[in-house]
Amino acid sequence: LNKPNILILGGGYGGIMSAVRLQKELGSDEANVTLVNKHNYHYQTTWLHENAAGTLHHDKTRIMIDDIIDMNKINFVQDTVVEIKKDEKRVILENQELTYDYLVIALGADPETFGIQGLKEHAFSIRSINSVRQIREHIDYCFARYNNDGKRDELLTIIVGGAGFTGIEFVGELADRVPELCREYDIPREKVRIVNIEAAPTVLPGFDEELVEYAINNLERRGIEFLVNTPIKECSEEGVLLATGEEIKASTVVWTGGVRGNHLIENAGFETMRGRVKVEKDLRMPGFDYIFVAGDCALIIDEEANRPYPPTAQIAIQQAYTIGRNLKALINGKNELETFKPEIKGTVASLGKGEAIGKVGNKKLFGATASAMKKVIDNRYLYLLGGIPMVVKKGKLKLF
Ligand code: FAD
Ligand code: NAD
Repeated sequence: LNKPNILILGGGYGGIMSAVRLQKELGSDEANVTLVNKHNYHYQTTWLHENAAGTLHHDKTRIMIDDIIDMNKINFVQDTVVEIKKDEKRVILENQELTYDYLVIALGADPETFGIQGLKEHAFSIRSINSVRQIREHIDYCFARYNNDGKRDELLTIIVGGAGFTGIEFVGELADRVPELCREYDIPREKVRIVNIEAAPTVLPGFDEELVEYAINNLERRGIEFLVNTPIKECSEEGVLLATGEEIKASTVVWTGGVRGNHLIENAGFETMRGRVKVEKDLRMPGFDYIFVAGDCALIIDEEANRPYPPTAQIAIQQAYTIGRNLKALINGKNELETFKPEIKGTVASLGKGEAIGKVGNKKLFGATASAMKKVIDNRYLYLLGGIPMVVKKGKLKLF
């Protein structure tokens, strides 16, 4: 009997957890499972702001794929997806082509630049190990240049565009890192500007007001400047131009102004909203009952609030469990598939070492308690991925 081929694209939260779940759910005689990922490691996108600021080494954030999955059960292909041929059940990679009976698309997000001139060319973004290594090195280099290159203020100005959770978490890390850099490169701290610019009337628009106030006070005290109600209009080699007409000269601009689904989905001709597929309740692609979509590539609606759920790792991980069970059901000839229901446990955002804000259920968390909770959440994910050994190897074990 021919075994069906299941192909998973992307080894982030949605993809690697789908592989882990299929490894558990399926017997080796039930299907061939192949995972394709750009790199031979999985990385925790949720820690990348720490690597970008230089407060955590990127080796802590990445985990070798063969440490997670059993290569005897899952066929791993390290390659880059170039094109999804949806009507031919074929995927073109840089170095080969693969066919499938069932496909899981979990290729993550691309930065959303809203067509703002110069952003793609001149701003950095926090999206992969390689992108954040470059940010860290670039900031270091700017500081190293300062005393040798005319003491130009712009070398010490860091603009962070967008004060959603990514922007806020990143400036929190910068607030910790910059004093270290100043000591390292003989620079007075007051010479450095870190400016977080937000288009909406407040930072973290839509989040709990008391927690937002705590975050602003905490970050301002640690030297972060906020500009709200101030959309960035253009970006250039020199810095940014604001909608107000003001220019800020800066050698470093990091764009954290939002995300959209991976461009490969739009390129394949699937219907999308900001690059994301509005999936069916069972996480299948409308009109393609052999394709599942997970994580930042999938759009699901919060029916109570009547708007899309924000794309999060929390949801991507939960989707992988449903996809694992639904694929097993399909392979076993069942047509009744499970409906995906996200169980939102809360949101916790770090503000740097030992500082965070969060809402878990109806409970608000601040400071050290929130920070410990964030580490518990991160360790729990590692436990789901590879049990206690993975928590010991990669976890954040010092909670306070
Ligand atoms: P990802 O985890 O980004 O994985 C995509 C994978 O696909 C990557 O491994 C990538 O290498 C691979 N890939 C991409 N293109 C190709 C290609 N062409 N070929 C082959 N492979 C490819 N969410 C939370 O719930 N809690 C948090 O605390 C949180 N913090 C965050 C902090 C930061 C700094 C950021 C940026 C995001 C954070 N998020 C958080 C959001 C969360 O990280 C995403 O929602 C989550 O990563 C989505 O999972 P995913 O599997 O869709 O994509
Ligand atoms: P986001 O869309 O949540 O925030 C982007 C921010 O940029 C918004 O506040 C927006 O108003 C602002 N912005 C847009 N255009 C602008 C402009 N021209 N000038 C200035 N500001 C502009 O994006 P994000 O912060 O990257 O988050 C992406 C997803 O990841 C979200 O779903 C978020 O919930 C999730 N995330 C979660 C956590 C956490 O739970 N701790 C951390 C990071 C990210």
